[in-house]
Amino acid sequence: MIVAERKPFDEILEMLAPQKRVLVLACGGCVTVCLTGGEKQADELASQLRLAARQKGMDLTIESDSITRQCDREFIENLKADPGQYDAVLSMACGVGVGFMSELYPETPFLPTLNTTFYGANTAPGAWAEYCRGCGDCVLAWTGGICPVARCSKSLINGTCGGTNDGKCEVDQEMDCAWLLIYKRLKELGRLDEYRKIRPPRDHRTDRGRGVRRLVHEEMVELEEEESQA
Ligand code: SF4
Ligand code: SF4
Repeated sequence: MIVAERKPFDEILEMLAPQKRVLVLACGGCVTVCLTGGEKQADELASQLRLAARQKGMDLTIESDSITRQCDREFIENLKADPGQYDAVLSMACGVGVGFMSELYPETPFLPTLNTTFYGANTAPGAWAEYCRGCGDCVLAWTGGICPVARCSKSLINGTCGGTNDGKCEVDQEMDCAWLLIYKRLKELGRLDEYRKIRPPRDHRTDRGRGVRRLVHEEMVELEEEESQA
């Protein structure tokens, strides 16, 4: 899932400076699960903003609403509020939701309240860790399921770099060296032959450099067309 954290309150308040009527829009997707952008957090932010506006004598009306997902057109019709009627929308979604909603409502500024952090797994109650960076050319088959792009500080495709110290990364002593973990995992799996192979440099065109990446699932498109014609 996508993991995000809330921006500092002052930064959010600063974004609102020229606005008079603002909608705080929660998202019921990943950001609800990681406790940053759901309905509860939207109501909290709306209350904080009302209080701050009163204290600072700002002419600011804050309302709130929520949507199942801000990254999916299917749920737009369930919105109770009309984003087009506001001077701005404070989106509680990840960057995908903010970007998508901005396209759907081009007349309304959608302002991000979160910093989208990473794709993570829930490793303990209230804790998430990065497991993938969406590089578009997955190498987990020969790294024992451990992602060197996301988990090695240098995103090395051949490791270790030589700086490993007591199992920790030379860049960050709090962090396990991803390539040592890969080595140990491959050893357990009896697949050290994979470790010894020198891999060519990654083709970064799969993750960057070609503009917006898109995915079209033809079967799904056909299914939706059939359903709309039925
Ligand atoms: S190699 Fe790329 S796609 Fe595979 S887990 Fe790592 S970042 Fe994600
Ligand atoms: S010490 Fe390990 S994790 Fe850190 S940069 Fe080197 S190979 Fe990557």
